[in-house]
Amino acid sequence: MSARQLVLRQRAELLGALCCGGSSEGLESVLDLLLSWGMLFWEDYQNVRVPGRALCANTRVLLDLVYTKGDETCQLLLAAFKQVLPEAQRAGLSFGNCRTADLENTRDDTKELHGTAIQTLQTDRPGLVRRLKDHIEGALEVLLHTGSFTPSDCDEVQLLVYTPSQQARRLLDQVRSKGEPAAKVLLQYFQQTEDHPSPFNQEAPPKECLSYQKKLRSTVSAQSHFLSTYGGTSSLSLEDIYTEGQLELAQGGSEAQPQTGALGLEDVVGLVGTLNQEADTVLVSGEAGSGKSTLLQRLHLLWARGAALHDFFLLFPFSCRRLSSEQRELSLRELLFLHCCWPDGDQDRIFQFILDHPHLILFTFDGLDEFMQSFSDSEQRHCCPTQCAPVPTLLFNLLQGSLMKGVRKVVTSRPEAVGPTLKRYLRKEVLLKGFSPGGIDCFVRKYLRDPTVATRVLESLRNNTALLGLCHIPVFCWIVSKCYKELLGCGEGEGSPQTITDVYLMILQHFFQRRASQRNTMGIGWVQEHQDTALHLGQLAMEGLGASCYVFTGTELQKCGVTEEDICMGFLIRSEDLSSSTNCKHYEFLHITMQCFFAALYIVLNNNLDRSTIPKLFQPQDRQQQPGFHRVCLGHCLTQQEGALKEANTAAETPNLQITATFVSGLLSQRHRSLLLLSCPGPTLDRKSKQVVTCLSKGIQKHFKSIPRPVEGEKKSMHAMPGFVWLIKCIHEMQDSRIARDTMAKLEVEHLKLTYCNIGPVECTALAYVLQHLRNPVGLQLDYNYVGDVGVEQLLPCLHVCHSVYLRHNNISDEGIRKLIEKGIQCERFQKIALFNNKLTDACTECFAHLLKTKQNFLSLRLGNNNITAAGAGQLAEGLRFNRSLQFLGLWGNKIGDKGAEAIANALKDSQTLVWLSLVDNGVGSAGACALAPLIKNSTLEELWLTKNCITRTGVECLILALEGNTSVKAVWLRGNELSPEEVEEMTQREPRLTF
Ligand code: ADP
Repeated sequence: MSARQLVLRQRAELLGALCCGGSSEGLESVLDLLLSWGMLFWEDYQNVRVPGRALCANTRVLLDLVYTKGDETCQLLLAAFKQVLPEAQRAGLSFGNCRTADLENTRDDTKELHGTAIQTLQTDRPGLVRRLKDHIEGALEVLLHTGSFTPSDCDEVQLLVYTPSQQARRLLDQVRSKGEPAAKVLLQYFQQTEDHPSPFNQEAPPKECLSYQKKLRSTVSAQSHFLSTYGGTSSLSLEDIYTEGQLELAQGGSEAQPQTGALGLEDVVGLVGTLNQEADTVLVSGEAGSGKSTLLQRLHLLWARGAALHDFFLLFPFSCRRLSSEQRELSLRELLFLHCCWPDGDQDRIFQFILDHPHLILFTFDGLDEFMQSFSDSEQRHCCPTQCAPVPTLLFNLLQGSLMKGVRKVVTSRPEAVGPTLKRYLRKEVLLKGFSPGGIDCFVRKYLRDPTVATRVLESLRNNTALLGLCHIPVFCWIVSKCYKELLGCGEGEGSPQTITDVYLMILQHFFQRRASQRNTMGIGWVQEHQDTALHLGQLAMEGLGASCYVFTGTELQKCGVTEEDICMGFLIRSEDLSSSTNCKHYEFLHITMQCFFAALYIVLNNNLDRSTIPKLFQPQDRQQQPGFHRVCLGHCLTQQEGALKEANTAAETPNLQITATFVSGLLSQRHRSLLLLSCPGPTLDRKSKQVVTCLSKGIQKHFKSIPRPVEGEKKSMHAMPGFVWLIKCIHEMQDSRIARDTMAKLEVEHLKLTYCNIGPVECTALAYVLQHLRNPVGLQLDYNYVGDVGVEQLLPCLHVCHSVYLRHNNISDEGIRKLIEKGIQCERFQKIALFNNKLTDACTECFAHLLKTKQNFLSLRLGNNNITAAGAGQLAEGLRFNRSLQFLGLWGNKIGDKGAEAIANALKDSQTLVWLSLVDNGVGSAGACALAPLIKNSTLEELWLTKNCITRTGVECLILALEGNTSVKAVWLRGNELSPEEVEEMTQREPRLTF
């Protein structure tokens, strides 16, 4: 009997077999197979699986369809039933002569022939459903992050009524409807999970490994329980104080798609933002004090408690400081066991487990910038885990992936320290940008505990926005919170801290005071009183920096005269890691910035300082060409391996010396003169201060001299080179407007470009302090930084010298913009603003309307890629109606729709100045396009951008009609609207200025 007859005869039984349980699982499995064998087209599938229709009705449609398709399809339907039905149900049915094996072969051929991702999803459907059902969340996360899915797509997939398999099918169906790019994302995800299957799919680890995991967890937990800055003096644990920092993906310098949604801690290790699938190393970069070590510590603690990073069975934390002092040649095995956790059980077995399961292992390396040797490609290749090698060789080969390929590694470093060689081996780079304004609030409340005190401190910070700006950097926020009594005591006037040096002087006084109060002798000349301590620690810090040495032995402390009493002040803490492994006590400064501050104190307070020290300090980049520097000003090198370290310098050296120079500038400012006069003779202070001013002036002039001549017809423009912002910060530390004015006097550019320069609120304060003295107006371009609302507020003092302000991608919200515009309205020269990709909503449009109404010389307003809707556009229109100057209006990537377009068109219809208007990607339809047509008739408009909207023929007809009598418009951009290729062809013929 033919298969077709079999299907017809057994119709009732087949129907019953799929419908008797009431679950659609059987039918869906049959459909999966038929789709994968190519026996059903996608349209057939959609006709059969109609959501909301009864299961039996859907099954009947399938049986009818298959019957009409012929004998071959019926044969395969029976084969599918045979495969899907449980044994008991199969018993009474006849399946004829099924030949699925042949089909598998044809299927493979077709896959090779037409290998699009969508086809792969169809041909592999049954297997994909099986695998996907355990990974729904992971897959959705990837689809969401890559922008392939919207949150509502995810919700639809995850409806509670669906079983996991059904969710998997809905996910596949959704992906198909999104097209090829989404399908590719999903397939890549599968590849990933295949390379790194979930640990739960593995067989249980051997007993020894489980107990090693337990020991490692408890070691890691003990190490990460407290933060080093609390030096055992506080009862605050990491758990109590940890506050989320702001994480962002580095986009490799491209102006790629803005990142959607904030990154969480686990995203550091997760899939999001992967640029190189082949690489295993993730870099977390951030400035000193931005919280890199703390972030790792938090990850360690969460892992140790089983609260996160579930995919990793073992986590090995390393400190590059500590690795730097490891002089022995070690094998990887020794490195793990000696530096992280010694196994009690069978070492061979445990190590073998690690080698066999690289995807279950995570290594973290804190502070790569402090590693003694810089990363280079010439490092010897080493891939044998049991063979000994110098630690740098092990480290570099691990990071490159030649050793322990597949083990995920997270490395932290300061941004400057990571060169292109290492960058080639990175899986992705995550930038740590310190605390958000909400983070500062949260940290202060956690730290101070008493809500009344916290509120007072936060209030005082709001009244001192320069200090608030500093608090975005966690280490400063910690100091400010720690010294809250001093802060509240100094009121809000001149005396309250303004600069980084002020903040560090505050903590210096705080620590000295703490000791003094025990003896009751703290006077006005408090620096003088503790001058010896400052000099001892200063010398230690200074010599350490010169030798890239951050951990000191007792002998080294002695050499610099550091006494027990100096240690008790609290600026030095025991370096537990090293102390425990060598029996001899090791110390380090509370934080690297503290070491820099003491080095600066030493330079300022030491009356016998070599005169060339300050000039050399201000040229850290040139130090490699100055072999005398170490010898002359740093004296001996301090570590046990003197010879080995003398020549070594870490990547952190230049940034550390820059921080030190910033403190030297601050300490030598007039505002601290009276404090230091008791310790230093006035003429010496004056001489040093003059030296600093000369260095700053020369440094800045060097930057000005490197400005290229402008190409004819173009504006003279300066792009800040590395080191420029640092010099500006030093000038700010001096708090002397005369110095700022004099150094800026020679800057004659029309445009100052500081894109991708790591400009946060702290840098904004310094920039505004210095730039306000410019003689001629500039365009200030700060795109792709992290200025934020607080930074915007810091910029206000220099707004009067800016004719244009570019703040694209800077995390600015309505609140920040409101303040900027309020000030901008009063600045005669302020004429242009670009705010692409910030966090603006309709709540800010009223202030722009006010600006447009009030400032009749305003030229350009660009608000692309924000969250402005029709209501916001309506508000803007209120301003546009009264404006007589605006030439450029950009609203690309908002959501103003037809209504918004109509409001704007109406308001601009009589404009005699508008040259360029962009409403790209705004959900504008034909109604909006027709409303915009009168603008075309207007004699000034040259370009109208309506790309990526939903305009149909009707809308374009209106635009064509308007263009008929117009000669000023050069182009109307319409690509990505709802027009057929034929319509596009025909309309281009009629009106060549339409660009599709
Ligand atoms: P980095 O490694 O970037 O130099 P750290 O992680 O050492 O910075 O942070 C310096 C100090 O700032 C910490 O000791 C802690 O007091 C504070 N800190 C940093 N990040 C956080 C955080 N996420 N939550 C709470 N405090 C933090």
